[in-house]
Amino acid sequence: MTDVPLFASSLDPYQDRLAEALERVARDGRYILGPEVEAFEAEFAAYLGVRHCVGVANGTDALTIALRALGIGPGDDVVMPSFTFYATAEATLAMGARPVFCDIDPDTLCVTAETVRAALSPRTKAIVPVHLFGNVAPVPELREFGLPVLEDSAQAAGADLAGRKAGALGEAATFSFYPSKNLPCLGDGGAITTDDDGVAERARILRFHGSQDKSTFIEVGYNSRLDEMQAAALRILLPELDGWSERRRSAAATYERLGLGEHARLPHATDGARHVYHLYVVRAERLPLGRGYYRVPVHRQPAIAADVELPATEEAARTNYALPMGTDLTEEQIRQVVEACASGST
Ligand SMILES: *Cc1c(COP(=O)(O)O)cnc(C)c1O
Repeated sequence: MTDVPLFASSLDPYQDRLAEALERVARDGRYILGPEVEAFEAEFAAYLGVRHCVGVANGTDALTIALRALGIGPGDDVVMPSFTFYATAEATLAMGARPVFCDIDPDTLCVTAETVRAALSPRTKAIVPVHLFGNVAPVPELREFGLPVLEDSAQAAGADLAGRKAGALGEAATFSFYPSKNLPCLGDGGAITTDDDGVAERARILRFHGSQDKSTFIEVGYNSRLDEMQAAALRILLPELDGWSERRRSAAATYERLGLGEHARLPHATDGARHVYHLYVVRAERLPLGRGYYRVPVHRQPAIAADVELPATEEAARTNYALPMGTDLTEEQIRQVVEACASGST
């Protein structure tokens, strides 16, 4: 057994700068929708190569608000994977729309054009691929169906596909800055990104109670803002993201070099994608360490209980193990994990 942490990332090197940024906000006195949020939105949009970023309170609200900004509502079907975090479906149900679950590719663990096609119907109004575990779903192929594609990029900040960043591939995308995600803040935070001026404008109105000018309320919205403290922290950490992604990829390469592939099926990036290994998820019948994710996939959760057969989803749910990954994983720690897998794989 090993005591290598599953999330091997630390913000220690940035603590002084984070503290400075938080103090700057505390003294400035503008805590909601002020200069830090505005600057972070511009910086993150520029990083991704999109026109707009709208900061919101968390990744789940980002999904809810983005779906509404795309015009999804009661009676609409939204196609999405079941092998994902529950929030993707929850946000859809929250606005009276119906999640329709499609299967995944057994290697990439993301949806494909084929699995999505099998779930489409005349009621389908949007497709929500999830860039699972830091891989990237094949969004350009999904856009050929002619429906709005909303990327759930919560796990894939920094990843790219054919030279475009995850979060810049669909009509719109959503991010979470939850502390364990690849681009973390110091609490809850999220964002919607898009090239579409109308979607961005609608998202800005929805995050502030359905108001553009903060005094006239034109629809029932949400109180869901990224706050100034979190935006200030994100502005310190965003410039580190590409370096962190390199370190995660280097750890993945080390797992491979040290022979992990003899004991488990290794993660497999989508063709043309650069994976950022939010989680390093291998497949095996049984491993003596690691943590299984989404063992009960969303379509079988009690709040959903959808009657649908998704064989690749069931198989991935049963056989996946997340092994330690992060920006600070050492070769020695990786060696320990591989040795533990070697001694106990079946
Ligand atoms: C984390 C996550 C979310 C939700 O983000 P929160 O900030 O926790 O609300 C949504 N979708 C996926 C795939 C996630 O991993």
